Amino acid sequence: SFPYLFSGLTIRGHEIRNRILSTGHQTWLAERNRPGEAMIAYHEARARGGVGLIVNESARFHASAIGEAPDLTLTDDEAIAHYARLAAAVHRHGAKIFGQLSHPGRVTRRMMNGMRGVVWAPSSVPENRFHVVPREMPAAMVAEIIEAAGAAAGRYAEAGYDGVELMASHGLLFAQFLNPAVNLREDEYGGSEENRLRPLREALIAARRAVGEGVVVGLRISADETEEGGLDQQAVLDVCRRLSDEGLVDYINTTLGTMAGPGGSIHVVPPMEIDPAYVAPHAAAIRAQVGVPVFVAGRINQPQIAEAVLAAGQADMCGMTRALIVDPDMPRKSRTGRADEIRACIGCNQACIGHFHAGYPISCIQNPLTGRETLLPLEPPPAARPLRVMVAGAGPAGMKAAVTAAEMGHQVVLAEAAAQPGGQALLAQLLPDRAEFGGLVTNLVTELALRQVEIRLNTRVTAAMLAEERPDALIVATGSAPVMPRIEGDLGDHVVTAADVLTGKAKPGGRVVVADWRCDQIGIGLAILLARRGHHVRLAVSGVCAGQNLQQYVRDLWAGRLHEAGIEVIPYARIYGVDHDTAWFLHTASGAAVTVEGVDSVVLVEGNAPDMTLEREIAGLGLPFVTIGDCTIARSAEEAIYDGLAITRSF
Ligand code: SF4
Repeated sequence: SFPYLFSGLTIRGHEIRNRILSTGHQTWLAERNRPGEAMIAYHEARARGGVGLIVNESARFHASAIGEAPDLTLTDDEAIAHYARLAAAVHRHGAKIFGQLSHPGRVTRRMMNGMRGVVWAPSSVPENRFHVVPREMPAAMVAEIIEAAGAAAGRYAEAGYDGVELMASHGLLFAQFLNPAVNLREDEYGGSEENRLRPLREALIAARRAVGEGVVVGLRISADETEEGGLDQQAVLDVCRRLSDEGLVDYINTTLGTMAGPGGSIHVVPPMEIDPAYVAPHAAAIRAQVGVPVFVAGRINQPQIAEAVLAAGQADMCGMTRALIVDPDMPRKSRTGRADEIRACIGCNQACIGHFHAGYPISCIQNPLTGRETLLPLEPPPAARPLRVMVAGAGPAGMKAAVTAAEMGHQVVLAEAAAQPGGQALLAQLLPDRAEFGGLVTNLVTELALRQVEIRLNTRVTAAMLAEERPDALIVATGSAPVMPRIEGDLGDHVVTAADVLTGKAKPGGRVVVADWRCDQIGIGLAILLARRGHHVRLAVSGVCAGQNLQQYVRDLWAGRLHEAGIEVIPYARIYGVDHDTAWFLHTASGAAVTVEGVDSVVLVEGNAPDMTLEREIAGLGLPFVTIGDCTIARSAEEAIYDGLAITRSF
């Protein structure tokens, strides 16, 4: 049991049923900048699953706050009815809802989806992530923004929200005013500490005035912006103490980092390489200084971790946003003694923030229903007639298919040629600091056990086996195998594959060049792994940079590690020749040859081709089958799991 996690928390008379929080996060689910059916269904699923408090994604509250087209806005009264529907849906399931308000200031792009965007900020200081030099806000605009924050807070209250949260986190506008490195103003909003605090302070006062005494007013703030020139811990502590002492905030919701640079933005959605609950000590430092509840987020992916944070007195509430993205029922499972059934977040960032950055609605690689609550039924359709289903291959696609078929009421056998289930995910977890990726396999194995699926390991499905067993339906999920590029020259033992190195089959020499066609986690991970083992490593990537195809925060983190390890990255390089100590690459932009000398080993990081062996073998048998996952076309774990769910449901 989790006594701390499931004790209530009362703020300004609003009793929150537990200490589990879904923090404000962008979903790309808004409709014409309002909460619509998709966003309501998304949050309602989490409220139904037992979350205590939902903070809906930030709404922009002033015309100078430019951003992505589907962002929420709350600048007019017509919006209130839409927000009211969301609040009512969350309340129906016993959860509380607070509304977030933000203004990006300088941390945004100049032009978004055809909008003409003028970026306004406290001062014209260049920004390192979106590479914008903003215009300095006139004092009258600052006063207008403060007033607009109050008006928007009032609209949330009118929509029936329990609280309002102002964002001064992540280097957003109010944080920019606080920061003397980017606020160079000489008027009443710049210079002294008092002046720099003024916009935030006055916005909180305006919000309180607008919502009255019955609605919570809170603050989100980065306890440390962790970036050169960012707000440090002491500066933030001073702000929090002051606002708490003055009674301007009912709670403080802490995070780390800033969106204003690659180093700080990693903390916006910290990936698996970062320790669980790593923000908790920062929250504790603030909690020791203020008289209001303090919330914390940041890699709190399991109830046990949240319970430890609460029990240690580091915070009063735990943001578990991604834990809820992957498993909306996590709170209910935790409360009812079913914590071992939770599908845990692995911090991969691929489909939650990864989708957002790619410009489409968030989801989860492990839970295709997330973000598709109005597109896919949350419960699987029961089978019209229970079938005997054989699934060939227990990679992510096959495992998800077997789980789904069993949920529908079919009788399922899952056969895997290898000695353990997992497929390509087993390799991915061998990369440095990526062991948590194996959680994807653990979670699916748990789901298989819960559905009592029969698993046959060391069993390759063959035509003979199928002729004997005659299943009613066959799902082919036999995966893929690495393809070899066409390389001229001496392809001796010194040319090896990524899989060979990861599994220990190959032992590269002292001077290695990693020839990375994929530009994802494997090439970077192998380069770091070999450097840590003492090899001299060069990383030749076919794209513009190492990790080009990774989610941005993961890429930024590993780019920093490559730099620290002194690994030379050779961009636009496609391998075409090798001899005993030299590798030749084609510069894919110029067409010129790039020669890399002094090479003892070449590690090839290539794509995978579908394994069509079984499909060809059974082509003449007249047995109905479908292919899913990598054996259809080698893609990501996310697409494999989506296939496993969606195609199986269509039986
Ligand atoms: Fe967690 Fe990855 Fe799912 Fe995001 S996509 S919620 S990081 S498991």
